[in-house]
Parts: sequence; C-alpha cells; structure tokens
Amino acid sequence: MGCTKEEEEFTNSPLKMVEIEGPIIVGAGPSGLAIAACLSKQGIPSLILERSDCIASLWQQRTYDRLKLHLPRKFCELPLMGFPKDFPKYPSKKQFISYMESYAAFFNIVPVFNQEVESAMFDPEASKWRVKIKEMKENVYVSRWVIVATGENADPLIPEIQGIDRFQGRLLHTSLYKSGVEFGNQRVLVIGCGNSGMEVSLDLCRYNAMPFMVARNSVHVLPREMFGFSTFGVAMTLLKWFPLRLVDKLLLLVANLTLGNTDQFGLRRPKTGPLELKNATGKTPVLDVGALSLIKSGKIKVMEGVKEITENGAKFIDGQERKFDSIILATGYKSNVPFWLKDCEFFSDDGMPKVAFPDGWKGGKGLYTVGFTRRGLLGTASDAIKVAQDIADQWWNTNQRPQG
Ligand SMILES: Cc1cc2nc3c(=O)[nH]c(=O)nc-3n(C[C@H](O)[C@H](O)[C@H](O)COP(=O)(O)OP(=O)(O)OC[C@H]3O[C@@H](n4cnc5c(N)ncnc54)[C@H](O)[C@@H]3O)c2cc1C
Repeated sequence: MGCTKEEEEFTNSPLKMVEIEGPIIVGAGPSGLAIAACLSKQGIPSLILERSDCIASLWQQRTYDRLKLHLPRKFCELPLMGFPKDFPKYPSKKQFISYMESYAAFFNIVPVFNQEVESAMFDPEASKWRVKIKEMKENVYVSRWVIVATGENADPLIPEIQGIDRFQGRLLHTSLYKSGVEFGNQRVLVIGCGNSGMEVSLDLCRYNAMPFMVARNSVHVLPREMFGFSTFGVAMTLLKWFPLRLVDKLLLLVANLTLGNTDQFGLRRPKTGPLELKNATGKTPVLDVGALSLIKSGKIKVMEGVKEITENGAKFIDGQERKFDSIILATGYKSNVPFWLKDCEFFSDDGMPKVAFPDGWKGGKGLYTVGFTRRGLLGTASDAIKVAQDIADQWWNTNQRPQG
C-alpha cells in the first residue's frame, strides 16, 4: 500500500523527535485538565498541547458574559476536586473559570500554549504516535499514547445561508458575542434557537435591542427547574427507576404544565422526546432561563426560517422581509478532530467517536478520548477516570512500561 502525502511528509522531512514519557493530551479545556489530573494522581506525567494562550479557552474567550453553567454544579465537577463550597448552584462563567484555574494550579498542570496540533498519526513500526504542531514543522512529539481532548465544540458551525456575504451590517457567531451592550436599540436577527440563541436573545432585550430569533428546526424547551429541583437532576433520578421514554413523557407533561404549549409561540416540539433525541442526535434541549417569557410578551420575535439574507436584512420563508442592523449566528459548534487526526477509523466524519457513550473513550493503539460523550462535563469526568486507569494499568505493568 502506498504512502499518503502526509505520511511521506512525516518520513522525508528533517525532523527533531521529541520523545514524551507519558501521554500527549491535545487540548487544555476541562477535559484536558481532568485527564492530566487523573494521570498525575496515578503518578503518570503528561504533556498538554493547547492551541490558544490559556486554559479553558472556550470559556475564557468564546462565551458570552451572562453565561452560567446550564446544569447544577454537582453535575459539572471535574474528578478529584469539587467546586468551592460557597459557589452557587449554577456557577457563573467567571466562577467556573476560577475553578478551572485553581484545579490546574492544585494538580500542577502546566500546558504548553500556542501549540495547535496540525496532525497526529500512528506510526505502526514504532507503535507510537507522532504529533505535529502548526508552524513548527521541524518538531515532532512522539508518545505511545494520544488523548484527544479538543472538545465537541472546537470550531463554530457556520451554515450556508443564501446571500449572507451580501449583508452590510455586523455579522458574527455567538462565539464572538460578549454582551448586548454593543447592540443597544438595534434590530438583531439571531439565527438559531438552542440554548445560545435563547440566551443571546434574552441578553439583547436587557440592552433594549430588538431580537428576532429564527427557529427553523423543532426544539424542546424545558424549565431549568421542576419543583425546586434541576430538571436535569430530576431526569437523572427518574432514569434510575423508569425507562427513558416514560421519563421523557413525564418531563414533557411538567414542561407543558409550567411553560404552556410552546408550539403556539413558534417553537415546535420535536416528535421524539428530549432525552431520546439527545441520545440519538446529541441535540440538547433548551433549559429556559427567562427567554420564554420574553417570547410570550413579544419582546423576542420568533421567525420561522430565513430564505435569504439581503444587503440590509433578511427575507423569510413566510414571505416577510425585514431590515436588521446585525446578524448573530447561534448555529452551534463542531468537533475539529477530522482535520488533524489522520487515518483514524475510530472517529466519524462529524468528529465524534463512532462508538457511543459509555464506550467511546478508547480507540485502540494508544488512542483515547475525553469529553466526546454528548453529556457535557459529567461525561468528561467519567471518561477521564476510565482513561487514566487504563493507561495506568499499562504504565505500571513493568513488562509494558517503556524503557528510559
Ligand atoms: C455556551 C456554552 C455553555 C455550556 N454550558 C455547559 C454546562 O453548563 N455544563 C456542561 O456540562 N457543559 C456545558 N457546555 C459544553 C462544554 O463544551 C463543556 O462544558 C466543556 O467546555 C467541554 O470541555 P472540553 O475540554 O471537552 O472542550 P473545550 O472546552 O472546547 O476545550 C477544548 C480545548 O482544546 C483546544 N483545541 C482544539 N483544537 C486544538 C488543536 N488542534 N490543537 C491544540 N488544542 C486544540 C481548544 O482551544 C480548547 O481549549 C457548554 C458549551 C457552550 C458552548
């Protein structure tokens, strides 16, 4: 079998091999930090390569100011060290970042920043992974293990929308949105009605902007809390006793009683229940933190779908045409694994492991993943513990431990 272009580059260029004693971890978000901490607890060193200049860059650089954890803190703790006791039930973004910083400091985790992994490839002859960094072509990091911790939300997902290049106003993805203060009194088109689209629309209202939120797809909106307990916690508890479809029915019953029929506000419910849909497609239900009442009062207008963007606004599929000052794409994120992990059958084209939770953490040949469970930080914690144990079993097995 012939070499691919990448393999040729690997074999032909004058390279400096940097042997890493423990695993190479790609990404210094919560997942990268969690696995580094769990490895360190097992006495195993690791190297974290991070493309940005800080830990938890999604939280520090690509989220809006008003963001709070969507789930209660007990479902968002990393292994081995919980949140400070005085943190609220739903910590703010700032508190979450400070927790991450204390976590990294406590476990003495020092990632190497500004190191964007351009390719990682298994070398079958050496039974090792070779990892290359963008703009540092001469250096290759080499290790028996590579841990993918680049996240399900590595890059913004920008859909193709007819005419979008023509728009003369401000156009941005939610990853660049900080606060409604920049949009005061503007007419803003928010494309997307997931958690980000809802919260950005809510935030825009706080600054007297006029958001029009596009809900092209169906969406489950659930109250964040039910009977004083988090909806997520209620669902987790019920799942211990009842089948998933019955739990979905109960959640929807309470949601309809407390929020009303969201269909009449333009937010069509999917036919499949919220938990079943999440498991099947990864689509997260919206946990309402106040946007729905603004939709009901007409402050946030829900639009059915965009037909095309014009120079100064948009045409909608129901025939309406409106002017907008800005457009915010609340269209989500995607994994970037297919761009840098080469010749790997373990991931599918969408950058998620082909094997679903709870078995998607181990890819074979020393490849592992942390944080690709579609279960947020709860999934990160469970992956990190399993991956660290698996590597520790190899590390401390003297027959298999790499020599000096
Ligand atoms: C607005 C928003 C709110 C959320 N709220 C919650 C919540 O309340 N609870 C919850 O459980 N989850 C929530 N999530 C999901 C969130 O993705 C996780 O909480 C968490 O950030 C996942 O951690 P991670 O380390 O897997 O990925 P990330 O946080 O995305 O970290 C991945 C890191 O990898 C780096 N990286 C990517 N590619 C490369 C490369 N090629 N080379 C080197 N480094 C690279 C990135 O720069 C990044 O620092 C939210 C997500 C968003 C967008």
